[in-house]
Amino acid sequence: MMHKKILVTQTMMPKREAVEGMLDSFWESKYVTNCGPYHQDLEAKLAKMLDAKHFSMFSNGTLGLMLGMKAMDLQGEVIVTPFTFPATVTAIEWCNLKPVFCDIEEDTMCLDPKAIEAAITSKTAAILGVHVYGIPCDVKAIQKIADQHDLKVIYDAAHAFQSTIDGIPIAHYGDATMFSFHATKLFNTIEGGGMVYKDATLKEKTDQLKNFGLVDGVSQSSGINAKMNEVQAIFGLANLDVLDAEHHKRRQVIQIYDAYFKDVKGIKTYSHLMNSDQYYPITIDLNITGFNRDELIQYLNDKDIYPRKYFYPLCSDYSYIKDQIDYDLHLPVAEKIVGNVLCMPFYGELLGPDLDRILAELNEFRSTL
Ligand SMILES: *Cc1c(COP(=O)(O)O)cnc(C)c1O
Repeated sequence: MMHKKILVTQTMMPKREAVEGMLDSFWESKYVTNCGPYHQDLEAKLAKMLDAKHFSMFSNGTLGLMLGMKAMDLQGEVIVTPFTFPATVTAIEWCNLKPVFCDIEEDTMCLDPKAIEAAITSKTAAILGVHVYGIPCDVKAIQKIADQHDLKVIYDAAHAFQSTIDGIPIAHYGDATMFSFHATKLFNTIEGGGMVYKDATLKEKTDQLKNFGLVDGVSQSSGINAKMNEVQAIFGLANLDVLDAEHHKRRQVIQIYDAYFKDVKGIKTYSHLMNSDQYYPITIDLNITGFNRDELIQYLNDKDIYPRKYFYPLCSDYSYIKDQIDYDLHLPVAEKIVGNVLCMPFYGELLGPDLDRILAELNEFRSTL
């Protein structure tokens, strides 16, 4: 029997009419980039939604993160989690900073504050935490450490759009927080990203840096081109109309997965730790389940279902990073998690027959054990 492929995610698409409705004035004006009216409109709306006083948009999240760090004028080492997407770590390297990997907590899969303290040296300039899958870092403990050692705190919140911690918007913590609006992220502008800053001068600086450092037509700082264009902004504005409905559907998918996995011994779920609706991660304890992560992936792939090993391998194991590590790596928790974690297919349209098919295949797989 032929099945359609079920991938780990599916891009949230706006209503076509909503995009078309904005194209007329776009076409007439011939104003297609350089922070035009749609850019300004989206930036203002997102700043409000994220409850951010100082917010800037970029052509993608990675460049936002880089420019945020560059605007802080950091030098030396940045403490970072190895359990993330490569961009978190390569952004550090592109700023001529040294990533120093430290271990994560078993429960949250985010940076372990105790490990951060142990990794601090006289060269440490900042801590870069990832709210991985939208599970918040221990922001209070991290801020306390940063205050004690006079460090900047930056968060990669690529998975945590609209997330809150005890009701407080997630970007209220740290000196700068990055959001990604890539097509694989819940809210997307096809490609795109944003940074929330605590300090107004960081917005001023990065707004220059993303446009070649230009001020009144003259380059004043060593900038780059990282501007979001008007088509991206239009796509994002149109996506705002469908965002709540997508959240609603994804929350139903979460409930169905939660109810299913509750009865599977040896599988741990994480949805109770997050409110981001971005991923549905599980970890698999082979000793209890009798199957490991890779066996489950293989079985599902054979049925045209493609969960993903986000994030595998650890960034500290990348070929171009491994050889540069000149300190003792101590990552027992991250090493354990990276071997067991799996992100199940997760998006609104999964609700219905496709989700039923995944659960039926999971049952089939377990019955073969
Ligand atoms: C998607 C992602 C990024 C990169 O964002 P882009 O907008 O694609 O540049 C960075 N960090 C994490 C954790 C991500 O998942």
